Amino acid sequence: MASDVARILDAADLAASKHRHQRRKDAEQTPYINHPLGVSRILTHEAAVTDVAVLQAALLHDTVEDTDTTLEEIEERFGEKVRSIVAEVTDDKSLSKVERKELQIQHAPHCSHEAKLVKLADKLYNLRDMKCCTPQGWTKERVEEYFVWASKVVAGLRGTNQALENSLDALFKERNIFTH
Ligand code: NDP
Ligand code: ZN
Repeated sequence: MASDVARILDAADLAASKHRHQRRKDAEQTPYINHPLGVSRILTHEAAVTDVAVLQAALLHDTVEDTDTTLEEIEERFGEKVRSIVAEVTDDKSLSKVERKELQIQHAPHCSHEAKLVKLADKLYNLRDMKCCTPQGWTKERVEEYFVWASKVVAGLRGTNQALENSLDALFKERNIFTH
């Protein structure tokens, strides 16, 4: 059995390879891999997560949704637990964007603890990104709508990790979005 560090780096390596042609939506076109790396770093540094499967799933969380990666491929290389966390955080791309957004709100409370951790860190990273590296062409209103939608998803993820929830709440409060 490979060491924990080796298993985590293996996931980082696959994510980097799968996302290699993708960029974030900011003006500088930041390499996409910065996002899954940052989500994993939030989990280790801000939520004290040490569960290797959660960290691997965080590194891989957008591979199935946004690249040709399959859940079978993830299970074969990283096992059933990582597959199931990634499956829980993957939107069904056959649905419309509006339906996907609504389902994220509805599904959040029913996710496993592990998937909730990844979702909280993903939302925290994206909301910080919205502030510092706003997607090109987005109006203030569109950014605002995104914060409101994210607050509704986060409402269903509460009771999972206080540090992450506190950081998210501080971002919502800055915009006068009160969720509880
Ligand atoms: P998108 O899903 O299109 O874009 C947000 C996603 O992009 C994030 O969740 C993140 O996902 C990824 N991302 C990539 N780069 C960045 C970055 N620099 N900063 C933050 N996120 C980044 O957004 P929505 O469709 O949710 O649009 C937001 C709102 O705007 C919606 O409520 C919608 O109704 C409204 N809207 C308005 C339009 C308009 O022109 N006014 C047009 C369409 C929608 P990941 O973690 O997967 O990388
Ligand atoms: Zn993401």
